[in-house]
Amino acid sequence: MKVKESVPIADFGETRVAVHLSPPGLRAVRSGHPWLFDSGIVRRPESAADGALAVLFDSKRRFVGIGLYDPNSPIRVRVLHQGGQQQIDAAWLRKRIADSIDRRASLRDDPRTTGYRLVHGENDMLPGIVIDRYASTAVLKLDSSAWLPHLPLLQTCISDLTECDRIVLRMSRTLTSHCPPSIEDGMILSGSAVDEAVVFHENGIAFEAEPVTGQKTGFFLDQRDNRARVGRLAKGLDVLNVFAYTGGFSLYAARGGAVSVTSLDISKRALAASQRNVALNSDDAAISNTPHHIVAADAFAALAEFVRAGRRFDMVILDPPSFARRQTEVGRALAAYRRLAGLGIGVLDKGGMLVSASCSARVSTDDFFAVVTRAAVAAGRPLREIERTAHALDHPIGFPEGAYLKCLFARA
Ligand code: SAH
Repeated sequence: MKVKESVPIADFGETRVAVHLSPPGLRAVRSGHPWLFDSGIVRRPESAADGALAVLFDSKRRFVGIGLYDPNSPIRVRVLHQGGQQQIDAAWLRKRIADSIDRRASLRDDPRTTGYRLVHGENDMLPGIVIDRYASTAVLKLDSSAWLPHLPLLQTCISDLTECDRIVLRMSRTLTSHCPPSIEDGMILSGSAVDEAVVFHENGIAFEAEPVTGQKTGFFLDQRDNRARVGRLAKGLDVLNVFAYTGGFSLYAARGGAVSVTSLDISKRALAASQRNVALNSDDAAISNTPHHIVAADAFAALAEFVRAGRRFDMVILDPPSFARRQTEVGRALAAYRRLAGLGIGVLDKGGMLVSASCSARVSTDDFFAVVTRAAVAAGRPLREIERTAHALDHPIGFPEGAYLKCLFARA
């Protein structure tokens, strides 16, 4: 960890509120779960300030832990610490962030990768905060308004603990209505304005990220390892990248020696970025010489049309957005994964490689792999599995809801 010259840091704030836990709430906190809902609370103040420190007590008024109070979310308290007494202050926060950054030391020391996640929220014991790095730009994404009062402190920690000279603030949609007028999604907290995109490298490939306006924090960093796997498998293949976004998998496939790459996405804007990404890598002969086709269309309709037209590929990558944002949507999501896998196999040459991913936390790994397998059987193309993969080093899993990414590599 490199610490720049120390700047005085803002304090964490003095507001404290007492929160008394119910037996299930106590069990959840003791088991290390970072979320406390109202159902886990027997007594709390009528109203408390956003971001106040919530001191958690059991039924015998014994100290259990400490968290951040959020009056605006169903997750009433994000637990910062549980167990023995602990001072939660600026130094504590700085150390948590520094430890999280240190866990990525192998990525930091690899000059070929300058874009990766520094802090993965709950999974790095920093509930409600994501920090991504794109070269010298840091993007801080908040999922809880409880962090808003602590923004100056977060900002100081990021400038002290990273090499980044620009910090962009992103917020989940539900947060924006709780912001003071001086704070808005996409604002630059420090450093110069962003001219649309920033360029960073992933395993030596240059990409644009759109930290101010793009999805998530501007790029899907969680697929880095799966993209590298695709690169290793793509030699000599016609590759179809469905839900391509800005062409992440496509560029790896091209560099890995694919004969052609087709990027399919509903967003023309994302596809235009995929073409700029190809252009950014003009010094890489494999990437610039591989024909790159783009198709702007709904994936289900386009795949069905390819099936009808007899269009076939040697490798098909399916990396859709989350199909289940709520528990009630899980059934429908599984049906959609199944239909998608069937269509993917329908455009895959016999013995070709299917790469099928899901980022829905609510869809279990077993259920997802089961529906993809069933779709293959139904298509008369049973799978021969090569690999099942999950999270990369910078996206650790720290609690059950943190496990969301699963990906199957199989021949069909
Ligand atoms: N594979 C990408 C990330 C995909 S994110 C990567 O490695 O970076 C999901 C993408 O699906 C987004 O780009 C979104 O525009 C696209 N998308 C959403 N619904 C779609 C649909 N019905 N058909 C095609 N693309 C869709």
